[in-house]
Amino acid sequence: MSFPLHRPRRLRRTEALRRMVRETRLSPDDLVAPLFVCSGEGVRQEIGAMPGCSRLSVDTLLQECRELAGLGVPAVILFGIPDAKDPEGSGAWDPGGPVPQALVALRRELPRLSLWADICLCEYTDHGHCGPIGEGPDGQPEVDNDRALPLLAKAALACAEAGADVVAPSDMMDGRVAAIRQGLDAAGRGDVVIVSYAAKYASAFYGPFREAADSAPAFGDRRGYQMDPGNADEALREVAADLEEGADVVMVKPALAYLDVVHRVKSRFGVPVAAYSVSGEYAMVQAAAQRGWIDGERVALESLLSIRRAGADVILTYFAKQAARLLG
Ligand SMILES: [Zn+2]
Repeated sequence: MSFPLHRPRRLRRTEALRRMVRETRLSPDDLVAPLFVCSGEGVRQEIGAMPGCSRLSVDTLLQECRELAGLGVPAVILFGIPDAKDPEGSGAWDPGGPVPQALVALRRELPRLSLWADICLCEYTDHGHCGPIGEGPDGQPEVDNDRALPLLAKAALACAEAGADVVAPSDMMDGRVAAIRQGLDAAGRGDVVIVSYAAKYASAFYGPFREAADSAPAFGDRRGYQMDPGNADEALREVAADLEEGADVVMVKPALAYLDVVHRVKSRFGVPVAAYSVSGEYAMVQAAAQRGWIDGERVALESLLSIRRAGADVILTYFAKQAARLLG
């Protein structure tokens, strides 16, 4: 492959040539739009650190989803902002809560849109942790893994019954994929897909989301259940465990700072891989673009492409609508 016989620049000279040999492409088909749903009517409350993203009531959510579907985005994932919270997070399986209500309406209005329900308790617990609080071996309060499992299964079934075709447990409790799969199957819902947040890191990139979902923990942090950012071999073990428990798709979260993990998961397992490009990734691009420091649209598309190139089949991104429009 030596110069001057080989000149790699030959294939870069025109857009037609570049298009022809491009290895990775981005399409609206790859995108899932995360949306925040609250009670009320006509609500479209912009989230401070996430310009372009809002908390939506069911009616405005419907408008948003119609637009997304029209742009070719195949799926949305819903996060709930309940009116009331309690220690168990019982709002997570309340059929009258914002997410099940939204699912019912969306399933009726947009039957072809894939509806994902994020399954976790932290949006619904008054302490903001992802499961009920028990006592650790040192007498300190700690999330009770095993007590969380039936609650997560209940939440998943409630969302499936309301119209979700995909449930996505994001809590990082051990054994939750199996608990959810068994709960769904026992209720005759073997059709419901599980996308597990298999490798979810305890990341500072989640900052703006916590404002959006009002889900910051009241004490401590989530490092006792989310993964340590230094670990990648452990991510492979988490993925293996979730696949064994019945996950259909495995997710890595966040995306950009963990592209090596996305790549290793895809190479090792060859299963459908999702990557969640989180609120902090979105906020950084938006903030720099607003200052005129970068071309926000190009940086967004390049970032999404890099996540695909690393091996993700599906990308959850707050840029979904904007990107679909640019790609369309
Ligand atoms: Zn959580």
